[in-house]
Amino acid sequence: MLSIKEKILLSNLIVFGLMLLIFAFITYQNIKKSEIEKLDANLQVYASKIQTELEDTFDSEESGDTADFIGFNYNIFPKTKTRIIERSGKVILQDSTLATLLNKNSLNKALLGQGTKRIITLNQKHYRYLLIPIEIDDHIKYIVQLAASMNVVEVTLKHFIILFLISIPMAMLLTALASFLITRKAFRPMSQMVKTAQQISALNLNERVVLPKTRNEVWYLGEALNNMMDRIEKAFRSQRQFIANASHEIRTPLTIIYSELEYAKRYIKDQAPKESIDTSLIEIDYLTQMADELLLLAKIDASQLVLDMKPMRFDELVVDCIKLIESLAIKKNIEIKLYIEKAVELQGDKQQLKTVILNLLDNAVKYSPSHSKISVSLSVSNLQPKTARLTIKDSGSGISETELPHIFNRFYRARVVRGGKASGNGLGLAITKQLVELHKGKISVTNKIGKGTSFVVELPLNS
Ligand code: ADP
Repeated sequence: MLSIKEKILLSNLIVFGLMLLIFAFITYQNIKKSEIEKLDANLQVYASKIQTELEDTFDSEESGDTADFIGFNYNIFPKTKTRIIERSGKVILQDSTLATLLNKNSLNKALLGQGTKRIITLNQKHYRYLLIPIEIDDHIKYIVQLAASMNVVEVTLKHFIILFLISIPMAMLLTALASFLITRKAFRPMSQMVKTAQQISALNLNERVVLPKTRNEVWYLGEALNNMMDRIEKAFRSQRQFIANASHEIRTPLTIIYSELEYAKRYIKDQAPKESIDTSLIEIDYLTQMADELLLLAKIDASQLVLDMKPMRFDELVVDCIKLIESLAIKKNIEIKLYIEKAVELQGDKQQLKTVILNLLDNAVKYSPSHSKISVSLSVSNLQPKTARLTIKDSGSGISETELPHIFNRFYRARVVRGGKASGNGLGLAITKQLVELHKGKISVTNKIGKGTSFVVELPLNS
């Protein structure tokens, strides 16, 4: 498919090319016509000279030899084939090549005063042929056949064709260039708008497209886009505020309910209601965690999360996190193997990086079968810029190729886990990714279906 710019360029070229061809054709026909008319006029002059000569000869009433009779300067038009015939049919000046051109019909017509003009071919060359009746004393007494070479006309036309063969492609080339430059200039604000629009995401909704200086269609389009962005930003802001408020409001009663239930549990002797309270506590815990995560995301979205960046031992944090998750792993008989090359110090927010590592470890345990292994390795990449590279590899069921691109989206859960035993809300990886990016790092995932998943977190080291 052609772009709009290419379409404009192509249509300009087609229209201009067609106009040039029509112009060339009309000009060619006009030049040809006027050149032939010029030739005809010359032949007419020649014919009138013959007429004058014949009149003089006729007046002298001599009847000598034909050659003497034609005493006019035949060399005026030496390249013109000339044949003169008397009314009686007697040829008084002969050019044998013209003899065959005069049949009875055309002779009779000429004798009635009807001349002929046409283009003929003699020995593969073109000639302008005129058959002219000559009147003396108001009577047609002679017929003159004239044939002048079309060479001059043909050379002129050939020059004209060469001129057009050179100038048409050049004009087309110049048109293409001018059209390219004009459309590029006209579309530049549009390209800038596309670039800005592509950069606008949920995190920089305050960005606006730059409007061109002149108020043209592009300007109105840009203004419409900016107005639309105003409305989207407003809607996003109130939605974020609502989520933040709701999460905040929900969190306090949840904490109260949790501690009240825990308190009540102590005085309950029967097993059945105790178990009900335990189930409620798990659900309340789940809701509290979700409220916390929503609040954190709302803060990140509103750029209100200020990282407490300090120098810290990342390797020690990894070890601490493994200790925290170990009890969960032991419950599933999962072995966590740790490989740390050396002490890794970096600048980071310890609390938020802890959330990152715990989310990934928690997922690895959650989505791995019992009696499997998880390996955690920490290394330093010496490629510039130097980075700490944390790899958490499990031997779970993996993630399907189609779902892999979506796992960092909010509330996304793979099909196999939805409705399954593993609890979750699909917010953990979204938060993890944003926290890593706030540390100017990146997170990636590789996956072998049926053989496990590897998450790699890369964080820049202190310089
Ligand atoms: P959840 O609360 O569902 O765990 P996450 O955002 O942490 O939400 O993860 C999103 C989805 O990514 C999960 O629902 C799961 O389908 C998939 N996922 C994450 N980690 C793993 C893993 N280690 N192995 C397999 N699937 C995973």
